[in-house]
Amino acid sequence: MVEMMKAAVVHAFGAPLVIVELPVPEPGPGQVLVKIRASGVCHTDLHAADGDWPVKPRLPIIPGHEGVGFVVAVGEGVDNPRVGDCVGIAWLHSACGECDYCANGWETLCKCQTNTGYTQSGTFAEYTLADADYVVPIPDGSELVSVAPILCAGVTVYNGLKRTDARKGEWVAISGIGGLGHMAIQYAKLMGFKIAAVDVDDEKLAFASELGATIAINARSEDPGEVLQKRVGGVHGVLVTASSVRAYEQAYRMLRPGGTMTMIGLGSGALAVPIYDTVINAITIRGSVVGSRRIMREAMEFAAHGKIKAAIHAARLEDINAVFDRLRRGDFEGRFVLDFGGPDYASHADRDPPLHAWA
Ligand SMILES: [Zn+2]
Ligand SMILES: [Zn+2]
Repeated sequence: MVEMMKAAVVHAFGAPLVIVELPVPEPGPGQVLVKIRASGVCHTDLHAADGDWPVKPRLPIIPGHEGVGFVVAVGEGVDNPRVGDCVGIAWLHSACGECDYCANGWETLCKCQTNTGYTQSGTFAEYTLADADYVVPIPDGSELVSVAPILCAGVTVYNGLKRTDARKGEWVAISGIGGLGHMAIQYAKLMGFKIAAVDVDDEKLAFASELGATIAINARSEDPGEVLQKRVGGVHGVLVTASSVRAYEQAYRMLRPGGTMTMIGLGSGALAVPIYDTVINAITIRGSVVGSRRIMREAMEFAAHGKIKAAIHAARLEDINAVFDRLRRGDFEGRFVLDFGGPDYASHADRDPPLHAWA
C-alpha cells in the first residue's frame, strides 16, 4: 500500500490550488478509503476555492465531489462496500440518518449533512475517505471517466427534470446548455419529453439540437416565452440551469398554465414573480438541489450503459488551475474530468447478491 498521494489543495481563497504530497488517510469506523479513478470538476469547486459562498469551507481543503474509484481499504464495522468495489463519491458526504429529512428520503436537506470537497476532503486527490453508507454503487461495465459527472451534474438535472412533474410526451424547456444543460437534454430525451433548448450561444444550441432538442431558441435574438407560447402553447415544465435573473424571468414566461419551473442554476439575484399570473395560471416554482441516494441510483442506472454521455474534456490533476480558468470563462461545451489513470470500466468484488442488486 502506498503511503503518500498527490492532491490539489486550497490554502487561501482566490489563490491557485497547490499540488502537494500528503499521507494517504486511514479509514476510521464506518469509512472506506477510495483510490480515485476520475473526478469531475463542478462550479461548486470554484466556489470552494474562491470562498465566495455565505458558508465557506475551512482551509486547507481538497475540493472535488464527482469522484469515482475503487475501494482499497475499509474501516471498522464496514460490511458494504467491500475492497475491490467501484463506488462514486458525491456532494452528500454523510447525513445523520435519523432526522425527519433523512427518514423521508430527503437526506440532501439534513441539517447535519457533511459535504465532499467542502466540509470534508474531496476527490481532487489520488485517494480519499468516504462514508460507507453514502458512497454510490457504480453499475458494472460503466465507463468510469464518463460517469463521474453523473454524481453531481447528472443527478441534479435528472432530479430537477423529475420535479417539473412533466409526463412522457409533454414539453420541457431547458434553459442554459452548459455542463448541466447538455446532460439535461439527454435525460429529458430518455424520459420521453419533447424538448425545447434555450441559450444565448448558437453553437451550444446546435449541440442541443444534435442531442435531441426539437426547438432551439437563442434568447438574445428572440423572446423564448413568446416563441414557446406561440408554437406549443407554453411548456409543461422548465428546468433552469442558467443563473441570471433574466434567464429565470424568461423561463417563467415559457410555462403553460399548470406548469412548473424547477430552479437548479445557482444565482445570487432575486426573482420578481407576478402574483396575479401565478395564481390564475396555477404555476409552481421550486428549487431543487442534487438528489437523494435513491434518485442517484436511478440517474446512474440511466447512465450505466452509455445512455447519458457527458461531453468530457479530460485533464490531469496538475491541470486543475487551468481547468478552473476555463470554468470561469465558460467558453466550452460539456464537463471537465480529471483522469487519474486506471481501469476504464466499473467492476466489483465477487459477492452474492451483487452490490448493485437494484440495477
Ligand atoms: Zn457539483
Ligand atoms: Zn438527517
